[in-house]
Amino acid sequence: MRLSTRATNVSPSATLAISRKAKELRSKGIDVIGFGAGEPDFDTPAHIAAAAALAVTSGDTRYAPSKLPELHSAVCEAVREATGVSYTPKQVLVSCGAKHTLYNVMQALIDPGDEVILFAPYWVTYPEQVALAGGRPVIVETSVEDDFAPDLEAVRAAITGRTRAIIVNSPSNPCGSVYGESVLEGLAAIAVEHDLMVVSDEIYDRLTYDGRPHRSILECGAGMAERTVYVNGPSKTYAMTGWRLGWALGPEPLISAMADLQDHCTSNPASFAIAGCVEALTGPQDCVEAMRAEFEQRRDFMYGRLSSMSCCRVSKPRGAFYALPDFSPIMGTTRAGVTIQDSMDLAGFLLEHAGVALVPGTPFGAPTSARLSFATSMAHIEEGLDRIERALC
Ligand SMILES: *Cc1c(COP(=O)(O)O)cnc(C)c1O
Repeated sequence: MRLSTRATNVSPSATLAISRKAKELRSKGIDVIGFGAGEPDFDTPAHIAAAAALAVTSGDTRYAPSKLPELHSAVCEAVREATGVSYTPKQVLVSCGAKHTLYNVMQALIDPGDEVILFAPYWVTYPEQVALAGGRPVIVETSVEDDFAPDLEAVRAAITGRTRAIIVNSPSNPCGSVYGESVLEGLAAIAVEHDLMVVSDEIYDRLTYDGRPHRSILECGAGMAERTVYVNGPSKTYAMTGWRLGWALGPEPLISAMADLQDHCTSNPASFAIAGCVEALTGPQDCVEAMRAEFEQRRDFMYGRLSSMSCCRVSKPRGAFYALPDFSPIMGTTRAGVTIQDSMDLAGFLLEHAGVALVPGTPFGAPTSARLSFATSMAHIEEGLDRIERALC
């Protein structure tokens, strides 16, 4: 079978092997604690589900139009509240998940050979989507010692005549880091100076801890709204991952090009999901804080346990629901006859010998680290961390 070069160049998910193995062990009755969740473990709040159910039974089941006055104005209001920037409904495109939004952005922005700067450890989807558009991901490394904050000099050094955009993801998946004001302002200044676009993925903006409010790069200086594509959606904030909704706000020509692309790929999102989303954005908001507070308690516990372990170094997650400990201290050592050279070996070893499934950092550009999600129950977190400590420390 001859496949397109494009299809052949997409990397299969390296994390899938671990999930498959975990599933296999579970089916044999072996209990495996999973730290792999990339989504909230809560159900969608009932009032949101009810609004979508009502939409279905009242016949809201046809193609959704691309002009969605209610949702667009609710999104504009939410973004204005979060960032202080006022957008018009023409500057909004709602897509089938923020992942789809980001795909549209890359397709509308990147020409073959264009370079896009991203920070490692990165969300696996960014380099793939840049490459699918014919672009070249340019990786700037960050480290656990610096709490994964990018070094602005390294960013400057990575810029060439082909650089088109910088992808910013704060709070970050997989790092759990939140960029401070000086980093955001520094990145904004670099974007202005070199006339770059900024793709700001703020999907975890409502999940920040320690009383620190979220800051958007949109707030960092005049001129940012003209060069930023702001990306968000209800998946993480309202536990709505399965609903497939996301949005971009940005300069009108870009949004309009993305809308044209979308027309020929997916059309608009599901009509009744849109109705539920209007309720999510305009209905009661106490569910958001309740989930955030629960995540913060789990974060406290997970960070406390990991930071006391000699087998890893960990930065305190300030947002999202992941910790990304670096297991460099035990790389090259042998346990139960298994030599652990990188995160793939580590994940395999923990699954086989400790009954713990975590996500190896290698596909995220973090070969000695592993991602642990705290979107799972406190009981699981306690037991899973005990197992990791017994197996490694
Ligand atoms: C979960 C996630 C998304 C998007 O999720 P959707 O469900 O497609 O909206 C985007 N970026 C990051 C970093 C994520 O973790």
